[in-house]
Amino acid sequence: MLYIDLNELQKTNKLISQEFIGPDEFDLDKFGIDLKSSVGIKLEISHSGIDDLLLEGTVETDLEQKCRKCLNPVASTLSASLELLFKSKHSLENNDGIEDGLQFDWKQGKVDLMDHLSQEIVLNALSFVECRNPCLGICAGCGEHLNDSVCVCPEQPTDPRWDVLLNN
Ligand SMILES: [Zn+2]
Ligand SMILES: [Zn+2]
Repeated sequence: MLYIDLNELQKTNKLISQEFIGPDEFDLDKFGIDLKSSVGIKLEISHSGIDDLLLEGTVETDLEQKCRKCLNPVASTLSASLELLFKSKHSLENNDGIEDGLQFDWKQGKVDLMDHLSQEIVLNALSFVECRNPCLGICAGCGEHLNDSVCVCPEQPTDPRWDVLLNN
């Protein structure tokens, strides 16, 4: 759980915090990301404009993704900087209703940051990973990992989709 304490921020110029959030608090499986360590976050939250918020900070974590060719896990370290501007409901109302970007309302007491944080991790993780360059992948015929072993299939493995045609 990570949030901006708006009541606390109202009393001061700037909130500075450093947190470690356990990997179980994130749900990144559907993005093919498996967190291998806590997510370390450094945040500096300050006032911006009349009553908006600026969040600046860094996110660091270790993660694993699957190689897109052979599905072996590939470990990497993610380190990204954050800069998010949250527009207050009040300033949006006084700005001809331009509603781009992130919004919050001082009355809500706090701003939950977990979704934003998940999003930053997903955006900064590589979209396609390969365990080596180039990864030779898996043989479609025998399922052998071609990086580690030699496949003994005949030269052109039969694509099962052709079987239908051959039987006719
Ligand atoms: Zn691979
Ligand atoms: Zn093979």
